Order: sequence, then structure tokens, then C-alpha cells
Amino acid sequence: MTARPATAGAAARRTPVTALRGVGPALAERLARLRIGSVQDLLFHLPLRYQDRTRFHPIGSLRPRAEALVRGTVEHVEQVQRRRRALLVTLADGTGWLVLRFFHFNLRFARRFQRGQSLQAFGEVRAGPTGLEMVHPELEFDPAGQTAAGTGRLTPVYPATEGLTQRTLQRLVAEALEGLRKGRWPLPDRLPPALLPEGLRVPLEEALGLVHAPPPGTDVAALLEGSHPARRRLAFEELLAHQLAMVRLRCLARRHRAPSFPARPAGLAERFLASLPFEPTPAQRRVVGEIFADLQRPVPMLRLVQGDVGSGKTVVAAAACLRAVEAGFQAAVMAPTELLAEQHHGAFHRWMAPLGVAVVRVSGRQSAAGRRAVREALETGRAAVAVGTHALFQEAVRFARLGLVVVDEQHRFGVHQRLALRRKGTEGATAPHQLIMTATPIPRTLAMTAYGDLDYSVIDELPPGRAPVQTVVVPDTRRDEVLERVSRACAAGRQAYWVCTLVEESEALQCQAAEETARRLAEALPGISVGLVHGRMPPAEKDRVMGAFKEGAIQLLVATTVIEVGVDVPNASLMIIENAERLGLAQLHQLRGRVGRGRARSACVLLYRPPLSEVARRRLQAMRGTTDGFEIARIDLELRGPGEVLGTRQTGLLDLRVADVLRDHDLLPEVGRAAHSLSRADPPAAEALIERWVGEGVHFGEV
Ligand code: ADP
Ligand code: MG
Repeated sequence: MTARPATAGAAARRTPVTALRGVGPALAERLARLRIGSVQDLLFHLPLRYQDRTRFHPIGSLRPRAEALVRGTVEHVEQVQRRRRALLVTLADGTGWLVLRFFHFNLRFARRFQRGQSLQAFGEVRAGPTGLEMVHPELEFDPAGQTAAGTGRLTPVYPATEGLTQRTLQRLVAEALEGLRKGRWPLPDRLPPALLPEGLRVPLEEALGLVHAPPPGTDVAALLEGSHPARRRLAFEELLAHQLAMVRLRCLARRHRAPSFPARPAGLAERFLASLPFEPTPAQRRVVGEIFADLQRPVPMLRLVQGDVGSGKTVVAAAACLRAVEAGFQAAVMAPTELLAEQHHGAFHRWMAPLGVAVVRVSGRQSAAGRRAVREALETGRAAVAVGTHALFQEAVRFARLGLVVVDEQHRFGVHQRLALRRKGTEGATAPHQLIMTATPIPRTLAMTAYGDLDYSVIDELPPGRAPVQTVVVPDTRRDEVLERVSRACAAGRQAYWVCTLVEESEALQCQAAEETARRLAEALPGISVGLVHGRMPPAEKDRVMGAFKEGAIQLLVATTVIEVGVDVPNASLMIIENAERLGLAQLHQLRGRVGRGRARSACVLLYRPPLSEVARRRLQAMRGTTDGFEIARIDLELRGPGEVLGTRQTGLLDLRVADVLRDHDLLPEVGRAAHSLSRADPPAAEALIERWVGEGVHFGEV
């Protein structure tokens, strides 16, 4: 490594962000919301993606959702007055044309657009009513000069938060990098180059500099795709840090003891399974068996159950809870949304009350008195099972004898939340058992990385009699036929979902759009009772609507993607998804999983707005072609290959900053080897890497 001058300051990890110019308490607090406390945190706050202003895109090659810099001649200028006043400017460059749409403008602004005038625009491309458009793009009227719209650079776009602009983040990162170069806050490279795959042996400092501020001459395409060695080097280190964290977690957990729940042939769990109106599937039985075997052992179970949507994970979780209860312990079930927590509470109560087992709901929004009563029931042990959202691990909730923690739809929770709940029941050397459930289909190598601390079970069959959901792909110009279909299903006594997806940028607008859709559907479908749920409704109202839908009082439920996870209404057999082309495969699969849960033949209509991009077309085709979650995950991996837009790192498995477990999965075997060797050879380096990438929120010592 290069020699550094004797340093004036402390290491980057010990230097608070307030050491940077202009960072006072207010800004520091906003940075803290992004989990940035030190200069090191800032250096590792990596760009989500880049705005590519290095070249002009031919208008004819644009695709919806891409951000692009274009140059062309104004062909037509017009003001329209529909629902909103708008200024429409048509720009052409010989390869195609594009509409620039402005809602906020004055006369002076409008006059700047003259026919024949050439200009540049940078913005996100979207599908408009007559073709592709950009809404309020950044403009440059003098295309000759070095322009604001086209800076000739890749501009990093960071994960941000309210009150913290990209510009501020860019400035702070630049200063942090500058200080790094000058040796003001040294950043030790803890990864011996020998552990890095050949071709990725880029020094840490260089890799960080390149990723934050790609110098001219950088292989732009490689950087955008994530195949650039600097980016891959950081991805490798990040994956390694997570793997090391998992290794540690597993070691620490194995040091604890756990209560042993012996087999009881006529106990609560067996009686529950026998009382169900259906036979558990062989796969459910097998997984229950694996869990029961774990629960008998005096070490904490750490088991991941993966089962496709509708495979019946809830029953498995309930059986596990009852095994804890019959041994005199309590169980806690954590769900990612209030909607799902409410549903689980309902089901558990229905199943367990006849067995004399008290189930309570822990919610962040109960009345003070209600909350107190629930807390007391758990503290004294009167309530045996608690169901709730992350409200469960709030400080004030205490359990008398917590023996099992179940986390449903794990992909919605971070490692931190999982640990916090586990810590609840940890007393001295004893920790509760843990059962993690997810519907995200994960190839085995990925599971190892995301859940390296866990054992793994799969429910690999659906309950009998489920016909696969028939899926059709329909352009939204044929909405009338879809309405027809909804009214036929309702007339036949069945129910339907109508999902409004994110067309608008903000949640508020999205909810507004859902309200509008519900109103129009109610108008178009007289005689059908239409309900609405979205994220911004008062919780009590949400519960009421879901209850009414479950009972069948509401026939058509208009919803935002809040219903994506877990919702179970078997009589609903038709699902319409609007703007399906905008959703990823995993999300489409989850949404579609809301139907096909009963005996009725179910259908899913994917409405899209033409024109479709190539990738979107293949996604929708995949949905039409298969209902198998693993197959869908495989296709997803294929489609996310090089060339796909950036910003797809979120796989829902891990909270990763630079790595993408799908894109970078070829690194995993070497990551595994490196984790093995580093954790033995240099434990302090392993610790430092964990702290750097996984964060201090993980209090390993306490688990
Ligand atoms: P998921 O795995 O998506 O969480 P659920 O646990 O919500 O699935 O189960 C889906 C539906 O299938 C529920 O209505 C549940 O009661 C039902 N179910 C579960 N197991 C069986 C089975 N063995 N036979 C028939 N229906 C079942
Ligand atoms: Mg479920």
C-alpha cells in the first residue's frame, strides 16, 4: 500500500460527519436517518445508479422508464386543457419524436419554444397518451455550449431522504473523498488482495473514487451494468462482509441454549393438525417434522422455510407455535404489514381458541388501555401467542417465557429486526427458537448468502385441487372486456381484486389514483359493491374494508400494492393488475398469489399500456407461461443480465448497497472461501468489514 503522511485526524470510521464543512447538528441528523454517522459511512454510501449525461440517445431508441439525454428540433408547440392545463412540445431528431410535457409554465416560458428551434432535454422517458414523453425535463436551449443538461459525466444518484438533496450528498461525498486522498482520514484496506478474485484486485481507495466519481474515460457501459472491476471489487467485499456476519451469527447462536419442546402425541400441535378441515400436504408434514425435530433439541432452532405463495406456510407456523405452547412457552409471530398481522391474528385465534390457547394482537396503533392489557397478558404469561408487526420488538413489550419467534415474509424485514426480536427472549445463556418464512424463491447458493446462518426447508408442493392461475396479458385499450369479465365473475358469486400500481411518483398520488379508479369502477359496474384499500387510509378503515371483503360483502376490491404480501381470501378468483409492465417479476408473482387459493378456477389479467419495452414484454410473457415461483426466479435472473436498467439491486433478500445477489452470484463461491479463511486468519479484519458494511446496528455480542 502507499505510504501515508503521519495523519492529523482519526481513521474515517472514527471521524464524525460533523468534521465535514457545513455539517451541523441538523444535517447530521438527516444523515443519521440514512445510517450515516461517520466519514466512513459516507464513503460507503454508494450510488444507487447514475444519470448518464455522457451521450445523446437517438429518440427512436428510447424506452419507457429510462433516463436519457436527447437533442432535437422543435416540431410543434401546443397548449391543451384537459383535466390539467399542459404545454406540449414535440421534439424530433430524425430517428423519432418525443413529447415534452409541462404542467407548470408561464407565457414567457412557453414562448421560448419556437418551431425549428433546437434544444437538449434530460429526463425520464414515459409512455404518454400519444407516445413517449418526458415530464418537466431539464432543458438546454443552446445546444452548442457545454450545457447544464449534458455535463458530459455520469452523475451519481444516491439513496436520499427528506431534506437531503442529491446535490448535498454529492458535495459531502466529494469532500470525504478529497480528505481520503489527502490522508486526513485514513481508511485501512482490510481485505488482503490475495483473497480477491483475479481481475478485481483494485485498491479500496481507487475503487471508491471510481464508483463515486467516475473519471472521464471510465467504461460507462460497464459501470452502468455493474460489471466494472471497481464496482465488482466493492460488491465482493460487501458480500464477504455479509457472509462473515452470518458466520458470526451462527456461531454465537449456537453458543446459546434453548428450551427443548418434547414430542407430545396427543398434544396441542397434533390436535390442531387433526382439526383442520383439510389434510396437510406431504410437504407440509415433512417441514413440520423438520421443525419439531429442531424444537426438541436444547439449542436454538434457526430455520428458514421457503414455500411458494399459497403453499400453506401459515398452518406450519401455527403448528410450531403450539408445540411451544404445549411445553409451557410463548410464541411470537411477526408479520410485515398490519393487514397481514390482522389476518394471522384472525386465523390463529380461530384455530387456537377451541384449544384453550389465548392469542393476542400487538399493534402500534392500539389505544393506550388496549396496549396495556395486551402487554400485561404477555408479561404474566396469560397470553400464549402474540401476533403483530415490528411493534412486537418495541421496548415495552415483555414476554414471560418466550420460546419461539416466527418471522413471516422475511424478505420484508432486515437482519436487524430479526435480531431485535430474537434478543427479546434471550436471557443469559438461553435464546428462543427461530422460524423464518418466505415466499421468495431462492436458488440454494443465494440462500446461503442471504441466510447463511439458517437451516433450510422447502414446502415444494401446493395443496391439492389448485388449478394454476390462468394469466392473460391485455393492453389497456381493451379495458371494456376486462370490466365485462369482472362483472361475470361477481355475478357467479366470486370476488376480484383490482390492483393499481405505482404510476405516480409519490404514495399520496398513488392513493389518489386508486381512489379515482375505485370511483370509476363503481360507476362502470353498477350493482357490484366496490371497496378500496390503500396505504394512507386510517387503519381502522382498512381493517373494516378487508373484513367486508373477506365476508363477501365487498365483491371488487380496489387496492394499491399493500395487498401484495400474504393476504388470503380464497373466494377471490380474479385479479386485475394495472400497469403490469412497470412491476418486476417477483412482485407480479406475489400479487398473483392472492388468487388461486380456493377451488374456483382463477385468472389474472395483466393490463399494460403500450408500447412495451423488450424486457417488459418478456416479463409478462414469463408470467403468462408459468406459475412456478422457482421458474419465475430463474427467468428473472436471466432478464436481469447485462443491459438491464440499473436500480435492480433490491432483490428483497438482503439490504445491499452495491452488490446484487443475482447479478453478482458468480462471485459467491469465492466469497464463501474468503469468508472461511478470513474469519480464521484475521478476526479483527473480519469485525472491521462487518462494521463497515453491515453496520453497528447488529449487536452480535448481545444475541
Ligand atoms: P402462504 O404459504 O402463501 O402463506 P397460506 O398459509 O396463506 O399460504 O395458505 C393458503 C391457503 O391454503 C389458505 O386458505 C389455507 O387455509 C389453505 N391451505 C393450507 N394448507 C392446505 C392444505 N393442506 N390443503 C388445503 N388447503 C390448505
Ligand atoms: Mg403467508
